[in-house]
Amino acid sequence: MKKTKIICTIGPSSNHIDILRKMVEAGMDVARFNLSHSNHSSCHDAIEKIRKLEQEYQKTIGILFDTNGPELRLGRMEEDACFLKKGSEVKVYGMPILGTSTEFSINYANLLEDVSINTKLLLSDGKVVLRIVSKLENCLLCVVEEEGFVYSNRTVHIPNIRFNMDYLSEKDKEDIRFAVEEKVDFLALSFVRSHFDVLDVTDYLIELGDDHIQLISKIENNDAIEEIDDILKDSDGIMVARGDLGVEIPVEKLPGIQKIMIEKAKEANKIGIVATELLSTMEIDSKPTRAEVSDVYNAVIDGSDAIMLSGETTIGNYPVETVEMMRKIIISAEEDMDYISLLENAMRSEKQDVTSSIAYSVVDSANRLSLKAIVASTNSGYTAKKISRFRPKCPIIATSPNEDTVRSLALYFGIYPKLVNEYLSTDEIVDSCKREAIQALQLHAHDQIIITGGFPASLNNTNFMKIEEI
Ligand code: PGA
Ligand code: MN
Repeated sequence: MKKTKIICTIGPSSNHIDILRKMVEAGMDVARFNLSHSNHSSCHDAIEKIRKLEQEYQKTIGILFDTNGPELRLGRMEEDACFLKKGSEVKVYGMPILGTSTEFSINYANLLEDVSINTKLLLSDGKVVLRIVSKLENCLLCVVEEEGFVYSNRTVHIPNIRFNMDYLSEKDKEDIRFAVEEKVDFLALSFVRSHFDVLDVTDYLIELGDDHIQLISKIENNDAIEEIDDILKDSDGIMVARGDLGVEIPVEKLPGIQKIMIEKAKEANKIGIVATELLSTMEIDSKPTRAEVSDVYNAVIDGSDAIMLSGETTIGNYPVETVEMMRKIIISAEEDMDYISLLENAMRSEKQDVTSSIAYSVVDSANRLSLKAIVASTNSGYTAKKISRFRPKCPIIATSPNEDTVRSLALYFGIYPKLVNEYLSTDEIVDSCKREAIQALQLHAHDQIIITGGFPASLNNTNFMKIEEI
């Protein structure tokens, strides 16, 4: 059983029950909906299918919504695409106009005030570059330095400029209300600039009466990299969003930043996700490149909890094959991981309390004795997360009577969450955990597992571990 989780973005290629079923069989753990591109009714439709598959396979599939965020976007272009020729002059407005090859607009009224001469505007994922040469009365005069097509409504990057935009737009608020209605488990926040942005979302969720959606801050600009420690404190996890980040910072810096961000997430006991272009050749080809295989492998070795597919599963020709390939590479990387050092390193930055101590002993015993599973009975999920943080070699079955807890664990390394009834005694915990492990992992006679939990539940504390033979 693989331990690193796979997030699949759902789109036209995958929003069919037969494809989704095969993706679940291939190893999809969380379904992502990118609200910059999907409408509410197609999301609702796909979620219904996924909920059916959860019942059919008795497996938790987390639902993640990804917000639009405070992005700068190009206005509408004539025929939706225009070619900007190298050396030509272009006027750029903050007020909406219909764009052409010589003038267009960006959705930001204060554009003129907030930028300076020589600032670069990056369009079409950084392929097209404009430099501001002067400020005219009501627009910027730019010269095209790198030519190419630009398209209606696409993201515009102006690196290192802090824009004075509210974090939550009306569209984002509407999407978050929809997320609450659909009872999604995770919200990925695009273009977070500081922890204040995360707090804005937390406040809005409280206003809506939600108490369980977990927040994943997307690290996709320089501000977020600088503010990472504070952002981690107020988030449940982070995503290294390499698509936009690779436009905002020099692309050769990405692998190093990925390692630092994932390490920081682990140290903070938060979810770490690596996203974008992991297997993008598989959008059009049934096989990945060697470089992509290495990229997936290395994202696992870096310590990600989860890795994400985007175009591969939204518009690609091989959504199922891509998930299968990702699972194979994950398993190969997990076989090569040095679990003894992972545990020792994690323990060094841990605070010493009862739960940590038990979690450490559980993982150490599981590794030394080659146990087949760790079964953690958990109320809030805290114990299971601690065990996951110590990166055991075997899978973790987390049982909980609390449905929100069960669903919240879908993104953590190694955790397979399972909803169970409230336990009435320690013996009952042990019996039920054994049953769940046998069922989830098809265990055989004489296989050994380790069970941990707390009783009575009102103590809210983990207080025992027990090794059991099947
Ligand atoms: P996106 O985010 O797919 O919403 O742009 C991921 C990224 O930028 O890598
Ligand atoms: Mn992005």
